[in-house]
Amino acid sequence: MSTITPKEIHLAERMSRLGTETAFEVLVRARALEAQGKEIIHLEIGEPDFSTPANIVEAAARALRDGWTHYGPSAGLPQLREAVAEYTTQYLGVPVDPNEVVITPGGKPIMFFVILALAERGDEVLYPNPGFPIYESMINFVGAKAVPYGLREEQNFDADMEEIIDKITDRTRLIILNSPQNPTGGVIGREGLKALADKLAGREIPVLSDEIYHRLIYEGEHSSLAQFPGMKDRTIILNGFSKTYAMTGWRMGWGVMRADLARWVAQLMTNCNSCTASFSQIAGIEALRGDQSSVGVMREEFRRRRSVIVEGLNRIPGFSCRQPRGAFYVFPNIKETKWNSRILADTILNEAGVACLGGTAFGQWGEGYLRFSFANSVENIHRALERIGTWVRKNRI
Ligand code: PLP
Repeated sequence: MSTITPKEIHLAERMSRLGTETAFEVLVRARALEAQGKEIIHLEIGEPDFSTPANIVEAAARALRDGWTHYGPSAGLPQLREAVAEYTTQYLGVPVDPNEVVITPGGKPIMFFVILALAERGDEVLYPNPGFPIYESMINFVGAKAVPYGLREEQNFDADMEEIIDKITDRTRLIILNSPQNPTGGVIGREGLKALADKLAGREIPVLSDEIYHRLIYEGEHSSLAQFPGMKDRTIILNGFSKTYAMTGWRMGWGVMRADLARWVAQLMTNCNSCTASFSQIAGIEALRGDQSSVGVMREEFRRRRSVIVEGLNRIPGFSCRQPRGAFYVFPNIKETKWNSRILADTILNEAGVACLGGTAFGQWGEGYLRFSFANSVENIHRALERIGTWVRKNRI
């Protein structure tokens, strides 16, 4: 019997520029170790470990029974677009029209579609580094130039607005902000946003503002660039249900942007997904307009876990960890250990049974850091800290 070796598939050149999100790869490796009988504590993936609130689940079940099982408009069901417009108007304090809203399967497609729609070869796009890896991946994918700006520990991981402003050139086509921030837990303050708003006045540079963690802030209030005079029409807000209502697997998010851009993003939806699942959208209305008490309960539980993980990491030799001000991640400095962060993360997974990510999973300026998600129980966080501490002491790193 002859064996046929298939030729390597010929991929389009752009595929060589496509990045990834390491959290999903580490999750696969952690699951493979579990299949071999190892017990792994998962602190790698960024999803709330809570169940979706019962009122939302019930609304989805009802929607299924009521026949919300068909295609809907690409931009989203009008009733959900209206609910998102109302919700956004409330939290921004700036009026938003339903025509400015596009519903997508998760918040992530908004990154994909907006970068695809706005940036092209030769354009520069400013993005946070360390930052959510899909920004850099997508900028490179469309052939634009990815221009990083730093988030520094010394500045409590707040975005350095002076650096952003200095890096704006005639070729800047888009600026990406993320607050509260993944992976550092940093929050952009009002002063910084004001400085940027002043600088952008009179310039046609849109800003993609990723606000997916907007209700996970532990001190103070969330601020958005869209709140500053004249900025709403230049800001594209990415937001969604995943983190706020523990709905990661539902795949539902939204973008708020100028109505003319929203029409193009909806057309990208037509070309890609057709629409977001109709029964999920009906449940999304319940999420936004129904009982909100679960959001506060989850935030308070995250606050408790934050203290446990920060204190515990600071007791491990060679680790030092700042208190994040938002989201559910910590980004401890491990420079004293002299380990490369990706190798340290891999070794902690293999030898201590704790899954976390090397800082470079979020860009090259993440070297010297690890990222842990504290979306796991206090008990598991204690066990993970114990395991890492024991491993570090035993190996005298
Ligand atoms: N933006 C940031 C900063 C994130 O961390 C994530 C998910 O981890 C997303 C967007 C995507 O969220 P979704 O699951 O709604 O696509």
